[in-house]
Amino acid sequence: MNERRDRILTAFAEKFGGSPDLWARAPGRVDLMGSHTDYNLGYVLTLPISRDTVIAGRARHDGMVRLHSLAMDAEDCFTIDSVERAGRGYWGNYIRGVASVLLQEGFALTGLEAVIETVIPLGSGLSSSAALECAAAVLFQSLGGRQLDPVRMAQICQRAENEFAGVSCGILDQYTSCAGRAGCALLLDCKDLSSRPVRLPDDISVVICDTRARRELAGSEYGMRRADCELGAKLMGVPALRYASLKQLDSVSDALSARAARRCRFILEENERVLRLENALARGDREQIVALCAESFRGATELYEIVTFPMKMMVDAMLAAPGAIGARQAGAGFGGCMAAFVDTRSVAAFSNAVCLEYRKATGIEPIVYAVEAADGAGFVEEKWQEVNS
Ligand code: ADP
Ligand code: MG
Repeated sequence: MNERRDRILTAFAEKFGGSPDLWARAPGRVDLMGSHTDYNLGYVLTLPISRDTVIAGRARHDGMVRLHSLAMDAEDCFTIDSVERAGRGYWGNYIRGVASVLLQEGFALTGLEAVIETVIPLGSGLSSSAALECAAAVLFQSLGGRQLDPVRMAQICQRAENEFAGVSCGILDQYTSCAGRAGCALLLDCKDLSSRPVRLPDDISVVICDTRARRELAGSEYGMRRADCELGAKLMGVPALRYASLKQLDSVSDALSARAARRCRFILEENERVLRLENALARGDREQIVALCAESFRGATELYEIVTFPMKMMVDAMLAAPGAIGARQAGAGFGGCMAAFVDTRSVAAFSNAVCLEYRKATGIEPIVYAVEAADGAGFVEEKWQEVNS
């Protein structure tokens, strides 16, 4: 922690002089069950993780916003009076988007200078983009003198990502990053944005296994799957797949392409699995956890088709490692991070075995680490930001 704080303070002093007085943070997330269910208005079991993004800043009174990202080693600069979207794929768009949507919501914002620091890998499916938006939202709101509730804030950050970054994501990432509570996963119902806390058994840990394989296809493939889901829902006469049953799906199978039918089937089954996993975790039923994760990965492979070769090798390595309880994809798929439930006593042995086996199978050095459930977006504790002179 001190190391991170010192890195931020040093960079801030170099770029802007002096030290920051506003410190915001927001966590990344990993989904434990519920791939692609969010935009189908279904359930997700999601975990806000103990890897976060910190933005430390100071208000400016000339209307300029100057941001330095340590991860990108780059600066973005814009004026708060006319926030414009820059080119597609530009990292500054996530924050410009948040500022722009808050302004549209009637916030009176001032300028800002800030350093952005993160321990979430970028573009690996742990939602560094939402963490960036949500931490920025905390900071901009404090400049505007009021704080929105977490759900409203998540909606604003989602809009920023949709409209400014041009990514048509569902609400999952931003919701988890804003509404998480330390110690618990969240059972999110995307239909009405309600959630309930889900305690994980004390003897089970969540371990992230990063394939370190790029997620290149993720954008276009994501859009195609969304379109198939929407088509299926339309044919069944429901507003979203969340409202449909497998029986209804069978009844329209003649009118749907085989591919779209596979996609819809996965979503309906995956949605059910979220509730079944909640139940299995409450009972500490390890056999059920293994089975549900295996079904989810099989569906992701055969029906939703978001599983790549490195992911298959990773899941084999995860399941063969000591202490493994369940292993599956995470995020949108197509590489990136995966998630395992592991017996807490075996986390170190599990991690070593996964690294060895995955490297042997792919030649890629993975990154494997346990995560805990962290608090949602907010201010960094004062202890953390103290300037020791
Ligand atoms: P994920 O959200 O899974 O990490 P995305 O592709 O949705 O993957 O978001 C990654 C993008 O978000 C990065 O390429 C970058 O544009 C932006 N981003 C995230 N964190 C930061 C950061 N700390 N500094 C600058 N840009 C960031
Ligand atoms: Mg993202």
